[in-house]
Amino acid sequence: MTTRYPEYQTLVQQRLSPKRFRHSVNVMERAVYLARILGADPGLAELAGLLHDVEKNTEPKLLLQKLRNSDILFSDADALLPQLWHAPAGMLFVRDRLGIRDPDVLNAIRYHTTGRKNMSPLEKTVYLADLTSADRDFPDVELVRKMSETDPDGAIVYSLQFILGEMLSQGKILHPDSLECYNQITAARTPIPQM
Ligand code: FE
Ligand code: FE
Repeated sequence: MTTRYPEYQTLVQQRLSPKRFRHSVNVMERAVYLARILGADPGLAELAGLLHDVEKNTEPKLLLQKLRNSDILFSDADALLPQLWHAPAGMLFVRDRLGIRDPDVLNAIRYHTTGRKNMSPLEKTVYLADLTSADRDFPDVELVRKMSETDPDGAIVYSLQFILGEMLSQGKILHPDSLECYNQITAARTPIPQM
Protein backbone atom coordinates (compact mmCIF):
# COMPACT_ATOMS: atom_id res chain seq x y z
CA MET A 1 0.00 0.00 0.00
CA THR A 2 1.34 3.43 -0.85
CA THR A 3 0.79 5.89 1.93
CA ARG A 4 -0.71 9.37 1.81
CA TYR A 5 2.10 10.36 4.18
CA PRO A 6 5.40 9.45 2.45
CA GLU A 7 7.38 12.04 4.46
CA TYR A 8 6.17 10.54 7.74
CA GLN A 9 6.92 7.05 6.49
CA THR A 10 10.51 8.15 5.80
CA LEU A 11 10.71 9.72 9.26
CA VAL A 12 9.44 6.56 10.97
CA GLN A 13 11.89 4.48 8.93
CA GLN A 14 14.76 6.69 10.08
CA ARG A 15 13.74 6.54 13.74
CA LEU A 16 12.93 2.84 14.08
CA SER A 17 14.65 -0.50 13.58
CA PRO A 18 13.70 -2.34 10.37
CA LYS A 19 11.48 -4.68 12.38
CA ARG A 20 9.62 -1.88 14.13
CA PHE A 21 9.33 0.06 10.90
CA ARG A 22 7.67 -2.96 9.26
CA HIS A 23 5.35 -3.22 12.25
CA SER A 24 4.40 0.46 11.88
CA VAL A 25 3.53 0.01 8.21
CA ASN A 26 1.52 -3.12 9.04
CA VAL A 27 -0.39 -1.26 11.74
CA MET A 28 -1.05 1.58 9.30
CA GLU A 29 -2.50 -0.86 6.75
CA ARG A 30 -4.54 -2.73 9.32
CA ALA A 31 -5.84 0.58 10.75
CA VAL A 32 -7.13 1.69 7.34
CA TYR A 33 -8.96 -1.63 7.02
CA LEU A 34 -10.44 -1.56 10.53
CA ALA A 35 -11.40 2.13 10.27
CA ARG A 36 -14.14 1.27 7.78
CA ILE A 37 -15.56 -1.38 10.12
CA LEU A 38 -15.38 0.80 13.23
CA GLY A 39 -16.62 3.98 11.58
CA ALA A 40 -13.37 5.94 11.94
CA ASP A 41 -11.81 8.19 9.28
CA PRO A 42 -9.43 5.98 7.21
CA GLY A 43 -7.06 8.89 6.51
CA LEU A 44 -6.66 9.68 10.21
CA ALA A 45 -6.33 5.96 10.97
CA GLU A 46 -3.52 5.75 8.40
CA LEU A 47 -1.74 8.71 9.97
CA ALA A 48 -2.11 7.53 13.57
CA GLY A 49 -1.23 3.93 12.68
CA LEU A 50 1.92 4.96 10.86
CA LEU A 51 3.10 7.20 13.71
CA HIS A 52 1.86 5.27 16.77
CA ASP A 53 5.29 3.83 17.68
CA VAL A 54 7.42 6.79 16.56
CA GLU A 55 9.15 6.88 19.98
CA LYS A 56 9.46 3.11 20.37
CA ASN A 57 13.23 2.99 19.85
CA THR A 58 14.01 5.99 22.04
CA GLU A 59 16.09 5.51 25.21
CA PRO A 60 13.72 5.08 28.24
CA LYS A 61 15.75 7.68 30.14
CA LEU A 62 15.01 10.28 27.48
CA LEU A 63 11.33 9.34 27.35
CA LEU A 64 11.05 9.72 31.11
CA GLN A 65 12.68 13.15 30.98
CA LYS A 66 10.40 14.21 28.17
CA LEU A 67 7.25 13.04 29.96
CA ARG A 68 8.25 14.61 33.28
CA ASN A 69 8.82 17.97 31.56
CA SER A 70 5.54 17.86 29.65
CA ASP A 71 1.96 18.90 30.29
CA ILE A 72 0.99 15.22 30.60
CA LEU A 73 0.11 14.07 34.10
CA PHE A 74 2.69 11.40 34.96
CA SER A 75 1.26 9.11 37.65
CA ASP A 76 2.97 6.67 40.04
CA ALA A 77 1.64 3.82 37.88
CA ASP A 78 3.18 5.43 34.79
CA ALA A 79 6.55 5.66 36.52
CA LEU A 80 6.48 1.90 37.19
CA LEU A 81 5.55 0.85 33.64
CA PRO A 82 8.37 1.95 31.30
CA GLN A 83 7.02 -0.25 28.46
CA LEU A 84 4.12 2.23 28.17
CA TRP A 85 6.18 5.44 27.93
CA HIS A 86 6.58 5.41 24.16
CA ALA A 87 2.83 5.97 23.69
CA PRO A 88 2.36 9.31 25.50
CA ALA A 89 5.86 10.35 24.39
CA GLY A 90 4.84 9.54 20.81
CA MET A 91 1.83 11.81 21.21
CA LEU A 92 4.15 14.64 22.36
CA PHE A 93 6.43 14.00 19.38
CA VAL A 94 3.71 14.21 16.76
CA ARG A 95 2.10 17.20 18.46
CA ASP A 96 5.20 19.25 19.24
CA ARG A 97 7.67 18.18 16.52
CA LEU A 98 5.31 17.42 13.63
CA GLY A 99 2.62 19.97 14.51
CA ILE A 100 -0.23 17.47 14.23
CA ARG A 101 -3.16 18.97 16.11
CA ASP A 102 -6.09 16.61 15.53
CA PRO A 103 -7.06 15.63 19.10
CA ASP A 104 -8.43 12.25 18.01
CA VAL A 105 -5.13 11.34 16.30
CA LEU A 106 -3.19 12.50 19.38
CA ASN A 107 -5.38 10.42 21.71
CA ALA A 108 -5.19 7.36 19.46
CA ILE A 109 -1.39 7.46 19.74
CA ARG A 110 -1.34 8.34 23.43
CA TYR A 111 -3.64 5.50 24.49
CA HIS A 112 -2.63 2.79 22.01
CA THR A 113 -1.02 0.54 24.65
CA THR A 114 -3.27 1.06 27.69
CA GLY A 115 -6.64 1.81 26.16
CA ARG A 116 -8.87 4.06 28.23
CA LYS A 117 -12.54 4.45 29.04
CA ASN A 118 -14.87 5.78 26.34
CA MET A 119 -12.42 5.37 23.47
CA SER A 120 -13.43 6.94 20.17
CA PRO A 121 -13.77 4.80 17.02
CA LEU A 122 -10.32 6.03 15.91
CA GLU A 123 -8.73 5.17 19.27
CA LYS A 124 -10.23 1.66 19.13
CA THR A 125 -9.08 1.30 15.53
CA VAL A 126 -5.44 2.02 16.36
CA TYR A 127 -5.53 -0.09 19.54
CA LEU A 128 -6.88 -3.08 17.60
CA ALA A 129 -4.67 -2.51 14.55
CA ASP A 130 -1.61 -2.61 16.84
CA LEU A 131 -2.88 -5.82 18.43
CA THR A 132 -3.77 -7.63 15.19
CA SER A 133 -1.25 -6.32 12.62
CA ALA A 134 0.25 -8.79 10.14
CA ASP A 135 3.45 -9.24 12.20
CA ARG A 136 1.62 -10.32 15.38
CA ASP A 137 1.86 -14.04 16.12
CA PHE A 138 0.67 -14.65 19.69
CA PRO A 139 -1.30 -17.93 20.14
CA ASP A 140 -4.83 -16.47 19.85
CA VAL A 141 -4.05 -13.91 17.15
CA GLU A 142 -6.38 -15.40 14.52
CA LEU A 143 -9.28 -15.39 16.95
CA VAL A 144 -8.57 -11.80 18.03
CA ARG A 145 -8.22 -10.74 14.36
CA LYS A 146 -11.64 -12.16 13.56
CA MET A 147 -13.11 -10.62 16.71
CA SER A 148 -11.61 -7.19 15.94
CA GLU A 149 -13.71 -7.23 12.76
CA THR A 150 -16.95 -8.70 14.10
CA ASP A 151 -16.96 -7.59 17.76
CA PRO A 152 -14.32 -4.87 18.29
CA ASP A 153 -15.28 -4.16 21.91
CA GLY A 154 -15.10 -7.89 22.62
CA ALA A 155 -11.60 -7.99 21.15
CA ILE A 156 -10.48 -5.08 23.32
CA VAL A 157 -11.85 -6.68 26.50
CA TYR A 158 -10.33 -10.04 25.53
CA SER A 159 -6.88 -8.49 25.15
CA LEU A 160 -7.22 -6.55 28.42
CA GLN A 161 -8.29 -9.71 30.26
CA PHE A 162 -5.08 -11.31 29.08
CA ILE A 163 -2.78 -8.33 29.75
CA LEU A 164 -4.27 -7.41 33.12
CA GLY A 165 -4.32 -11.10 34.13
CA GLU A 166 -0.62 -11.40 33.31
CA MET A 167 0.24 -8.25 35.23
CA LEU A 168 -1.81 -9.40 38.21
CA SER A 169 -0.24 -12.86 38.31
CA GLN A 170 3.22 -11.28 38.18
CA GLY A 171 2.34 -8.94 41.04
CA LYS A 172 2.78 -5.88 38.85
CA ILE A 173 0.81 -2.66 39.07
CA LEU A 174 -2.26 -2.34 36.82
CA HIS A 175 -2.50 0.82 34.76
CA PRO A 176 -5.68 2.71 35.76
CA ASP A 177 -6.50 3.56 32.13
CA SER A 178 -6.53 -0.16 31.20
CA LEU A 179 -8.67 -1.00 34.22
CA GLU A 180 -11.12 1.78 33.43
CA CYS A 181 -11.26 0.67 29.81
CA TYR A 182 -11.96 -2.91 30.88
CA ASN A 183 -14.63 -1.85 33.40
CA GLN A 184 -16.38 0.53 31.05
CA ILE A 185 -16.68 -1.89 28.13
CA THR A 186 -17.52 -4.83 30.40
CA ALA A 187 -20.25 -2.87 32.20
CA ALA A 188 -21.74 -1.84 28.87
CA ARG A 189 -21.82 -5.49 27.75
CA THR A 190 -23.19 -6.97 30.99
CA PRO A 191 -26.98 -7.17 31.31
CA ILE A 192 -28.31 -5.50 34.45
CA PRO A 193 -29.35 -8.26 36.88
CA GLN A 194 -33.12 -8.49 37.37
CA MET A 195 -33.97 -8.43 41.08
FE1 FE B 1 3.39 0.67 20.85
FE1 FE C 1 2.93 -0.95 18.01
